[in-house]
Amino acid sequence: MIQEKGNLSINSENFLPIIKKWLYTDKDIFIRELVSNACDAVTKLKKLASMGEADISDDETFQIHVTLDKEAHTLTITDNGIGMTADEIKKYINQIAFSGATDFLQKFQEKAEEDNEIIGHFGLGFYSAFMVADKVEIDTLSYQKEAQSAKWICTGGIDYEMQAGSKTERGTSVTLFLGEDGKEFLEETTLYAALRKYCSFMPVPIYVHITQEEAEQKEEQQQENSNVIHVSPQEAENIA
Ligand code: ADP
Repeated sequence: MIQEKGNLSINSENFLPIIKKWLYTDKDIFIRELVSNACDAVTKLKKLASMGEADISDDETFQIHVTLDKEAHTLTITDNGIGMTADEIKKYINQIAFSGATDFLQKFQEKAEEDNEIIGHFGLGFYSAFMVADKVEIDTLSYQKEAQSAKWICTGGIDYEMQAGSKTERGTSVTLFLGEDGKEFLEETTLYAALRKYCSFMPVPIYVHITQEEAEQKEEQQQENSNVIHVSPQEAENIA
């Protein structure tokens, strides 16, 4: 069983607070970053499959699910793409300094650019989650044969925890525990607006699920599936 604690490999303890502050005004871009990562994960898997390096069944349907749990205050983005092994989490998620954080911090300090796109340029998109979340969990299962599910938990400091994951199907779920800075995303209208703004033309269909509080649900007399909405290039218009 995987069980590990460690520090994110970054040069400054201020890294996450800086990201938070930097992007405060445009914090909805976390949606774009996380949904793009989910799409990329699907694209990578398709590519491997086309090269004969991954087994996927002919009738495989690739999907991204965005689930807002209003009661638990969580937002989860799930894909059935390539997934990650524990080693890949360490490499791609933990070792952020070596790829981009050092450069990012330098740029930030120089205030050379006022461009919100900057975060994407440094390969730090995933960490934009901390603009709205107090805690982020990754639960993932790699496409690789015999892979074991791995979980990564980080509460926004430089500490993270890794342990065995709970995924039985290939892919990744990223769960954001929305904090004070992210509470507007508990409103589905805010969530839909961000999805429409950034994700209407992504190559993988996106399904949105809203879990209401029980009382609210009764009040609105909603049917079981009425909150499942399919956002795709064709259908995005319909929820505008
Ligand atoms: P970038 O996407 O620009 O490389 P990110 O910080 O957004 O930077 O993500 C870092 C890396 O983490 C990605 O390159 C990818 O390898 C991995 N990753 C993130 N999200 C996922 C996901 N949903 N599935 C598989 N791998 C992912």
